[in-house]
Amino acid sequence: MPNLSQLLTSKSSTEYQRVFNMCREISDQLDNVDGVYVVGGVVRDLILDRQPGDIDLSVVGDAASFSKELSSRLGAAPPSESQFQTFKIDTSDLPAGTPAIDVVTARSETYAEPAALPEVAIGTLDQDLKRRDFSVNAMAVSLSSSDWGTLVDPANGFGDIMRKRIKVLHDGSFVDDPTRIFRAVRYSVRLGFTIESRTSDLISKSIGNVDHLSGARVRNEFELMLAETQLVDMLRISEEIGLLAAISPGLRIGAKAMQVLEEMNESDSIPSDKSELLAVMMFGLNEDEAAQIVERFQGPSNWGESIIGNVDLAKHVAVLDQPSLLPSEVVEILDSIPESSMRAYLIAGPPLPRRDRINQYLEKLQFVKPEITGNDLIQEGIPEGPVMGKLLELVRRAKLDGQVTSREEELELAKSRLPGFLTN
Ligand code: ATP
Repeated sequence: MPNLSQLLTSKSSTEYQRVFNMCREISDQLDNVDGVYVVGGVVRDLILDRQPGDIDLSVVGDAASFSKELSSRLGAAPPSESQFQTFKIDTSDLPAGTPAIDVVTARSETYAEPAALPEVAIGTLDQDLKRRDFSVNAMAVSLSSSDWGTLVDPANGFGDIMRKRIKVLHDGSFVDDPTRIFRAVRYSVRLGFTIESRTSDLISKSIGNVDHLSGARVRNEFELMLAETQLVDMLRISEEIGLLAAISPGLRIGAKAMQVLEEMNESDSIPSDKSELLAVMMFGLNEDEAAQIVERFQGPSNWGESIIGNVDLAKHVAVLDQPSLLPSEVVEILDSIPESSMRAYLIAGPPLPRRDRINQYLEKLQFVKPEITGNDLIQEGIPEGPVMGKLLELVRRAKLDGQVTSREEELELAKSRLPGFLTN
């Protein structure tokens, strides 16, 4: 077995080294702990000399006592048990650079049916590595004194790192858990690896299983992709392998949206706001496609608003080219459109006069409000209720079009129009 103690010490930052050393001390001290291993992405990233992310530890033995002791030594709050025998150590209040830590009891996982959540049982380290997604993520390095730094690598992940390839551990992997298809795309692009040919065949055969995933799980995977710096390449590959269509038949990145995303990528200006990014990605989809996607993602309301907002804007946007349009009419059209969709239109839409109108709305018109408020109307004896809202809206429109230019004129207008509203 190769020994990677060098990676644990000289190659990792002081914050990681501190955690690894504490693990060694605790593992040596606790009688009910037979082994502690750093597993998964950290091992992969240390071998690749990349900045590792959160630390995942696998404990053979009593992970509850181990994680409690580790949190206490780190000065963190007691760990929380997130799932069966999985403990999270919140390191957010510790010195900057301290990674988040997840401690699991070494386990086996079985899938009762495709895409179901796994059934978990306490197991050996070997079983714990076999339940993982790819060989490059199925390595462990011992943190116990007796075999400190020993690499445990039953699937030859080290060899696959050297060959730069993403390889699943068994033929049923993507059927068991189709989220691994998203993961294969993410790792291959992020690490610059190819997806090994059998793994690629298995993806093609099991792509239909993405359908079995809940909206929340699909959304989670999609969000992880959105957070990656090489998002555009990931989207392109997802489209090529049919992953986007497997999420929802209408989900595609149109040619214009792809061109815009590529330009943004080159100029390092991919929107950090997720709603805005989604609106750009989904630019050009038709109403049915948009509705299907929103239903599939079952997402937070801002996701749906951006996607549907694009379609709503596309329906009404041509009117904005009319030169005679009043500011109040611009506002009437654009008030119900989310800002993310307008911004996406400005980036990806055609160079027509409507762009000036949208800009004018975003920069100025949307902020125009009457000087008078509901209180002023109450003082004039106007009863609270829907009539008040309508009067204030009417005043706002008049102000936008320059028909009233002072507080007094606003009040006069509201009072003069009250009888008409009361009789309607
Ligand atoms: P990242 O840098 O993306 O966080 P990571 O490898 O740390 O990479 P995590 O999602 O944090 O990824 O998962 C930690 C480890 O848990 C993985 O390395 C892998 O071994 C295992 N794992 C995570 N998700 C799955 C999955 N869906 N199927 C099998 N194993 C998984």
